[in-house]
Amino acid sequence: MNRNIPFFNMIINILFPHNCIFCDRKLSFFGNEYCCDKCREKIFKTKENESKCLICGRKIGGYGNNKVCTNCAKNNIHFDASYPCFEYSEGVRNLIHKFKFRKQMFLNKYVSDYMIEAMDRAGVPEYDFLVYPPVNLSTFFERGYNQTRLVAVRIGKHYKKKVLKGAIVKTRQNPKQSLMTKGMRFINVKGVFKVKRKFRKLIKGKNILIVDDVMTTGATASEIAGELKKNGALSVYVAVFAVSGE
Ligand SMILES: [Zn+2]
Ligand SMILES: [Zn+2]
Repeated sequence: MNRNIPFFNMIINILFPHNCIFCDRKLSFFGNEYCCDKCREKIFKTKENESKCLICGRKIGGYGNNKVCTNCAKNNIHFDASYPCFEYSEGVRNLIHKFKFRKQMFLNKYVSDYMIEAMDRAGVPEYDFLVYPPVNLSTFFERGYNQTRLVAVRIGKHYKKKVLKGAIVKTRQNPKQSLMTKGMRFINVKGVFKVKRKFRKLIKGKNILIVDDVMTTGATASEIAGELKKNGALSVYVAVFAVSGE
């Protein structure tokens, strides 16, 4: 019976041709892959003994015995640790773009599953609840969904942990972080998030995991972590799909 499955896959692939989720290259009719060989080589490569920032988890370049990246050394980061899944390379950027701006919501499955694998590998500490950053109202109405909420729900389901939906809200509609220079990003999010009143009791004395898609400076996650801690959260960790280089 098993013998027939590859043939069945091939028929499905001929009827519904599929492309690499990272670079959109057409994939072969054979096999059951969603990533081309080139992307697999580039995106999944792991180097032994690579130094990572103890706070944000990004690769630390250069020489010396630095334990944190220049970004985390320069800024006051409020989360305890971050667990990135991939580096923000071209293919990863393309996937995120499709998931975020082109309504390709089916990509949630891949984003979440890759993140779960990375979290298992890294050994994320015990936590009680998941939260995700809110988007501006105009973005939400334009897009119709908040992609990080979809990811948080799928990850929460996998680990059987509760997602505090809508727990983090915006106090004002600030300009998009992507329009800001690195130096401006911490200023742009200052005081922009708060914990919704009905969740405040719940998070007291608890450990929280923030789920996000991309981390550049970590300003958003840090600001949310700071708010959670102000409301009594003990530790705040971050799981993020992609982190930019140092
Ligand atoms: Zn590819
Ligand atoms: Zn760092």
